Amino acid sequence: MNKITSYTIKEIHKIYRDKLLTPTSFVDLSLQRVKQTSELNAFVTVTEKEAENHGIESEKRFYIDKKSLPLDGVTIGLKDNFCTRNITTTCASEMLKNFTPTYDATVYARLRAAGACLIGKCNLDEFAMGAGTIDSIFGPTRNPWGYNKDNDNWRIAGGSSGGSAVAVSSGSCIAAIGSDTGGSTRNPAALCGIVGLKPTYGLVSRYGLIPLVNSMDVPGIMTRTVTDAASILNCIAGPDLLDSTTIKKEFNYITLTDDFDMSNVRIGIPKEYHCEGMSQEVINAWRHVADLLEKERAVIKSVSLPHTSVSIAVYSILNQCEVASNMARYDGLEYGFRAQEEYSTEELYASTRSKGFNDVVRCRIFGGNYFLLTRNYDKYFIKAQKLRRLISNDFKMVFQGDNHVDVLLTPTTLSDAPLYKDFMLKHNRDQCAFQDYCTQPANMAGIPAISIPICLSKNNLPLSVQLMGPCLSEELLLNIAKRIESIVKFPTLNS
Ligand code: GLN
Repeated sequence: MNKITSYTIKEIHKIYRDKLLTPTSFVDLSLQRVKQTSELNAFVTVTEKEAENHGIESEKRFYIDKKSLPLDGVTIGLKDNFCTRNITTTCASEMLKNFTPTYDATVYARLRAAGACLIGKCNLDEFAMGAGTIDSIFGPTRNPWGYNKDNDNWRIAGGSSGGSAVAVSSGSCIAAIGSDTGGSTRNPAALCGIVGLKPTYGLVSRYGLIPLVNSMDVPGIMTRTVTDAASILNCIAGPDLLDSTTIKKEFNYITLTDDFDMSNVRIGIPKEYHCEGMSQEVINAWRHVADLLEKERAVIKSVSLPHTSVSIAVYSILNQCEVASNMARYDGLEYGFRAQEEYSTEELYASTRSKGFNDVVRCRIFGGNYFLLTRNYDKYFIKAQKLRRLISNDFKMVFQGDNHVDVLLTPTTLSDAPLYKDFMLKHNRDQCAFQDYCTQPANMAGIPAISIPICLSKNNLPLSVQLMGPCLSEELLLNIAKRIESIVKFPTLNS
């Protein structure tokens, strides 16, 4: 990667102050990088005009007003399921291919208010359903790790925020926003060798994020360093009148220390996360991190989260139920795609939805409506809600009492990035169930989690671990993650 495009927020700000580069020239370099890496298909829309204008505004604040903002001249990508005024927001779906919102998502509005420069909207699995960024009407996103344009052996980027992960890991922008309902920020971050933070549910506003599962969705942060993730979180977190599910308490800025003292930090290793199909290399990386934290005088403890085994099934039922109700708004009448042939209102709905959605979305709508039928409601939906509570209680129990742990350490994914051609051999639904094993419980409990790259596999691909903590423990998680980051010194991508 070009050195310039791998800068952190702190480094780029120093460079601006030293006038070695200006925000407009950095924005130009980032746009060039987007072009150079276009084969990776990270972007659905490149917002060249906006990026240039945002760069000019930042430059003025830097050098003329002498009052710069925390993210001035920081290039960002936004997953294409966050609404952006006058910029199409497609959800990588035929249904919203021509949808141009009239308002900005709060996350984007806050990033702009902090001075960030939007480079583009990033690719995703249609409506954020998936774990590979393979199901987009714009085609799959390719993982830059191990990518060689001369052969077909490229790896998936992970998903569903694969475009955002690739935009950051390949150096097109400093940070990107993804969404995380069952792991969609942490999974692609892990497979692309970057940091992926899923904040506590309600800490960051969902206003303007096109919903997948309202009770689990959170905007996620993707950066190359832990410190950058904290800087972005500081700009976007906090109550929002436009989202009644945001936590009402004022958000306290997170500060990170360089030499965080790990002594007596209690770290739990949940035994249920040793699961079938997890590669030995992942287990080794996980053990390696536990050992190095122990050397830092942390207390490592085996713990149990007994309901983990039912978690995937519960997630899948609740996900489909909420999808079924969320997708009902796409009826071909108000906005989005409308099928041409219309005989009756019902036929219009049916035709619009069969043409506007892919198989994955349609299957989830069918599944959800089945679970919600009067005769099935108690058997599936209510039962899954009860189990969700038990899964959430498992976490509460390990974070409470005399024997408590402060955080949990687990792998993020079960393997390094699969080859696209292997991934496509399996059914998307099975893949999601498999790939989300370690990530989705945190969404069901609403707790924060962060994925950090650790080392390279024998295929020279990133392997990552995940830290999870109690609600609003972001500062602790980020401090531990930063400590791990400084010890493991994960390499930046060379290409
Ligand atoms: N793979 C999961 C799913 O398809 C997660 C999606 C997400 O987090 N957006 O439901």
